Amino acid sequence: MNENPPSIVIGAGIVGLCTALYLQEAGRAVTLIDRLPPGEGTSLGNAGIISTGSVHPEAMPGIWKEIPHMLLQRLAPISVRPAYMPRLLPWFIRFLASSSTRRADASSVAINALASRALEYLQPLVDKAGAQDLLRQSGVIYVHETPAQFARAKLDCAYYERRGVDYELLDSAALAQQEPALRPGLAGGVLIRSAAHTLSPLALSQKLFALFIAQGGEFRQEEVTGFVSEGGRVRAVRSATELPCREVFVTAGAYSGALSKPLGSAVPLDTERGYHLHCAAPGVELVRPLLFGGRAFAATSMQDGLRLAGTVEFAGLKAPPSQRRAQVLGEQARDLFPGLNTEQGKPWMGYRPSMPDTVPVISASPHYDNVYFGFGHGHLGLTQGAVTGALLALLADAKPLPLDLGPYRIDRF
Ligand SMILES: Cc1cc2nc3c(=O)[nH]c(=O)nc-3n(C[C@H](O)[C@H](O)[C@H](O)COP(=O)(O)OP(=O)(O)OC[C@H]3O[C@@H](n4cnc5c(N)ncnc54)[C@H](O)[C@@H]3O)c2cc1C
Repeated sequence: MNENPPSIVIGAGIVGLCTALYLQEAGRAVTLIDRLPPGEGTSLGNAGIISTGSVHPEAMPGIWKEIPHMLLQRLAPISVRPAYMPRLLPWFIRFLASSSTRRADASSVAINALASRALEYLQPLVDKAGAQDLLRQSGVIYVHETPAQFARAKLDCAYYERRGVDYELLDSAALAQQEPALRPGLAGGVLIRSAAHTLSPLALSQKLFALFIAQGGEFRQEEVTGFVSEGGRVRAVRSATELPCREVFVTAGAYSGALSKPLGSAVPLDTERGYHLHCAAPGVELVRPLLFGGRAFAATSMQDGLRLAGTVEFAGLKAPPSQRRAQVLGEQARDLFPGLNTEQGKPWMGYRPSMPDTVPVISASPHYDNVYFGFGHGHLGLTQGAVTGALLALLADAKPLPLDLGPYRIDRF
């Protein structure tokens, strides 16, 4: 038997990759396991935004009043498959409970504590991986189409004020000047200058993975099916064989619930399925990513075209994708960008790993001495992946942490 087994990281999405790299930094030998090639789960298809100014939880106060409209309008940005309703209900009740003014503010603090540190922890990995050409720091704009939406957004800027996030209100003319590709006459926008984006989420993951391998990491493309434990520790991970381990990190995105449960930690993790339509020859170029809250999608110019990414569908991990939802993104965007060509846009669907309070799990196991969890980043996994990896590595070494991990505990519900 191997006297010095490796640390095992389950899941090679952006969170697992960053965790593996920060563990290497801490001197660990690391084995990364994924049934897919690295970066080809949900991390492949996001809008590429490193949203350093994020302060708003999904469950904002008063959200319950907006849900019927969001579900029922034409080209609805949110949908629930009827057959999935009963499974979703417990998660949804917790989601609504998280939307009280007090709890939404607590979530906002927890989200922003990670988001505001995103580049501090991602940039060193990007530099070491030689991936600087994949990162741009040109900000993002939250675009508001109607005066009513913009007035509401201005009220929500109170969250930026409380968290100390620098933002700038753009009136209709300033918005048009900043982003000439938008149709004229939109009400306004909120510019967050500190935000960044990647020109290819997949290429970024692949560069990080190449660094991991170059630093001596091992990758196994296998499915993890369980654990072997003994005396309050996990001794081995079950996949194609039994792999002895020093410690285990569960960073398996939307599938983390199924792996946490046999480790004694049942979690209210569900998936907000999201779609993208990637347009290779869009005919429009954006200065920076644009987010359309009212339509629940973002548009980002990437190295190989314009990506329209977003919408929320509650339908679990098994139902097939709805091609219609990806096509709707094209319809929505054509309404905003005159001359946009979405023909031959390539559709994609992925599984956001979502906790009801919008706060990810970054936690030691309450049951096993050598098990750690990093998942549930919902809409912000690319943003929060690197800081999560760094925190997990510090946690495993019992080193001082830059922030209190109480709000991210796995047993907080
Ligand atoms: C449309 C859309 C747009 C988005 N836009 C943004 C954005 O602009 N900015 C942002 O910050 N975030 C965004 N997100 C969210 C972000 O993409 C996710 O939060 C993030 O990718 C989650 O990363 P992850 O590593 O946790 O999960 P994943 O990337 O899904 O990785 C988990 C991996 O675990 C593997 N796995 C699971 N179970 C097992 C098992 N039993 N055995 C072996 N392997 C296993 C899976 O194969 C997968 O590769 C967006 C998401 C979507 C869907």
